[in-house]
Amino acid sequence: MSKQIDSNRRIGVLALQGDFAAHARALNRLGVEAVEIRTASALEELSGLIIPGGESTTMLKFLEAEGMTAPLIEWVKGGGALYGTCAGTILMANRVTHPVQPALRLIDITVERNAYGRQVDSFIGRADGHDLGGDPLELVFIRAPRIVEVGKEVVVLARYEGDPVLVRQGRRLSSTFHPELTQDLRIHELFLGMAARDSTSARHDSPRRVAG
Ligand code: GLN
Repeated sequence: MSKQIDSNRRIGVLALQGDFAAHARALNRLGVEAVEIRTASALEELSGLIIPGGESTTMLKFLEAEGMTAPLIEWVKGGGALYGTCAGTILMANRVTHPVQPALRLIDITVERNAYGRQVDSFIGRADGHDLGGDPLELVFIRAPRIVEVGKEVVVLARYEGDPVLVRQGRRLSSTFHPELTQDLRIHELFLGMAARDSTSARHDSPRRVAG
């Protein structure tokens, strides 16, 4: 089975909890097989990993229980490409508030959890501006965090009402919204480019800010 997978671009989806199946379907639509990842050893074969949306506190507990927390951090620091959506972004952040909780500290942002109010559980918006090229970007938010601070190495690729909602630092990409729940594959495509081992993927590497 693994012979079918392009080893230059073998992409995993963390499958401990949350909407990992929707990410796998998005990757499949791009012709890429997604590997469901539930153990630390499975990380070794990957060039990229997606941490899906779900419940960040639960995911943190499951990562600990599976002995995956330290290996995951090590794998990313060793050059693995990482994309987190929503709860995945909360896990990746350097700092988490509302309430404060531990974080993997893999991207230099501060996030505030459940920042759009309890009444507004989920909603669809449109990015003010984005750096993906082409059509306006539709944003599906589900109990979404807000990115309230970005470090100087972090590039903002899309904003909503002035706040960053898609950010990148090197081979690490975070969104507070859920592209896997739309038909739009541009963000998964961007991530595949970042995860290609032979790719210099330089387009978004230098720090700058998107207009908008
Ligand atoms: N509110 C969730 C959390 O704090 C994230 C929600 C999501 O991933 N859609 O973990």
